[in-house]
Amino acid sequence: MSAEKSLNFLEEIIENDLAAGTYQQIHTRFPPEPNGYLHIGHASSIHLNFGLALKYNGKCNLRFDDTNPVTEETEYVDSIRNDIKWLGYNWDNEFYASDYFEQLYAFAQTLIRKGLAYVDDSSSEEIAASKGDLNTPGKNAPYRDRTIEENLALFAAMREGKYKDGEKVLRAKIDMAHPNLLLRDPIIYRIKHAHHHRTGDQWCIYPMYDFAHGQSDSIEHITHSICTLEFIHHRPLYDWFIEKLEIYPSHQYEFARRNLTYTVMSKRKLLQLVNEKHVSGWDDPRMPTISGMRRRGYTAAAIRNFCDAAGIAKRENIVDIGLLEHFVREDLNKTALRAMAVLDPVKLIITNYPDSKTEELEIENNPEDENGGKRKVGFSKELWIEREDFMEQPPKKFFRLGPGLQVRLKGAYIVTCEDYKKDENGNITEIYGSYYPESKSGQDTSGIHVKGTIHWVSVPHAKQAEVRLYDRLFKVENPAAEEGNFKSYINENSLQIVPSVQIEASLAAAITGQHFQFLRKGYFTLDPDSSETHLVFNRTVTLKDSWAKEQKKA
Ligand code: ATP
Ligand code: MG
Repeated sequence: MSAEKSLNFLEEIIENDLAAGTYQQIHTRFPPEPNGYLHIGHASSIHLNFGLALKYNGKCNLRFDDTNPVTEETEYVDSIRNDIKWLGYNWDNEFYASDYFEQLYAFAQTLIRKGLAYVDDSSSEEIAASKGDLNTPGKNAPYRDRTIEENLALFAAMREGKYKDGEKVLRAKIDMAHPNLLLRDPIIYRIKHAHHHRTGDQWCIYPMYDFAHGQSDSIEHITHSICTLEFIHHRPLYDWFIEKLEIYPSHQYEFARRNLTYTVMSKRKLLQLVNEKHVSGWDDPRMPTISGMRRRGYTAAAIRNFCDAAGIAKRENIVDIGLLEHFVREDLNKTALRAMAVLDPVKLIITNYPDSKTEELEIENNPEDENGGKRKVGFSKELWIEREDFMEQPPKKFFRLGPGLQVRLKGAYIVTCEDYKKDENGNITEIYGSYYPESKSGQDTSGIHVKGTIHWVSVPHAKQAEVRLYDRLFKVENPAAEEGNFKSYINENSLQIVPSVQIEASLAAAITGQHFQFLRKGYFTLDPDSSETHLVFNRTVTLKDSWAKEQKKA
């Protein structure tokens, strides 16, 4: 196997184009519609478009496809800009399809003048009914043969606001019997008396997406216009407009959408989850949105590495969410500071440790990072340990605490469990043990060998925090493909709140966006809901890599 990664099909096309001199420089764009927050699918598209421009020394525009005044909002524009920058990309130009409204209007006039567009008074029902289907040709509208002068005048009157929504449309005059239904005289302008987030009330007619997208690419001289597979049948229409308008010939290339298991990716569905409060917002840490993943603690590098590994395809497919989590762990393992937190605390009392004594132990911040340094962690007679690290009747290979068992306390001493106390319900309330003063980590002369190490937090030193543990948002791999409503597959237990976790004191200085590995418990990050008096940590991901394990087995 060669060390060079093989080219994907778009890289091959681009390298051929550059070698043939078709283009001196490539120019791509990322064209979001500002009607929702970006998700992991968009991240793939961003990584692809910006990545190709970087690799081939080209340019990449950010273009907001804001032709629909009803669903678009400035809030979305801001979040999109922010998310792209966070992913690590910068655009060469920031454009808006709405900046081209005047130009698009002129394009429509050009088509009318060429006898290639007409104003139709038919209702939307009549237009749909006359479309025909794959086996039946459509029927020409009664208004199809209006004169150029009449069409120009009516189109101008549409713009001036003389008609109500739906009263008239402008249609391209192509072929009502065309085998591609999208070319059966598609609507290119409609009347919509609606306020636009940028053009305000300047317009009451708006171009259809199909009449704006291809021409916007052309106006910007986009060389490789990359979009998802569902637009493959639109390509002949875009090419028709470009040819008839005699404008710059951008070429469209299609790739398969990125789909992930246990989630949904359609903005419409994500909006429902937000509006119906199944999640706390677009940035809920369970959402597949970039803002949700960031809040959850995913890193931009992990997302980029995932996009690289998942690659691009020409056929629909669904990728295991475990692969994304694998790259999150891989990145965080290198950078996250280690810390100790006890999620389900029970007290361990070290009987032979002096009552009033405390110590400051030095524990490494990250064993994966030579320059990670050390931090001071307080130790004392009373410690919090995980309830699950003690068993009254431990099975054979339980290398933690139980009557007579020995374990190492991380960064500290070896202890032997001697006794424990229970309440009237049989719950363990306190555990007693003794320590070996000469077994201190790093300078252990005790000669005692133990198999297990557990984490702990000293009671007098401990701070408290809320911890939020997340599970898959859906119970099935592909909720969108299941029968019935996708919402009936929501996992009701996807969020577990642990209100009072005992954390080591150093964590009180955590800042939003900082990453930690809570020993044995997973990767965590401070949530923006935190305040000085109330810390909240999100579990980004557990430590167990199910994806890597599966790969080993296979
Ligand atoms: P939705 O159908 O959920 O509304 P969309 O495709 O309409 O999504 P846009 O804002 O138009 O969303 O997408 C911007 C760009 O991102 C487009 O080029 C689109 O092809 C691409 N994109 C959207 N979803 C995905 C995905 N799941 N995988 C890869 N690229 C995607
Ligand atoms: Mg779209």
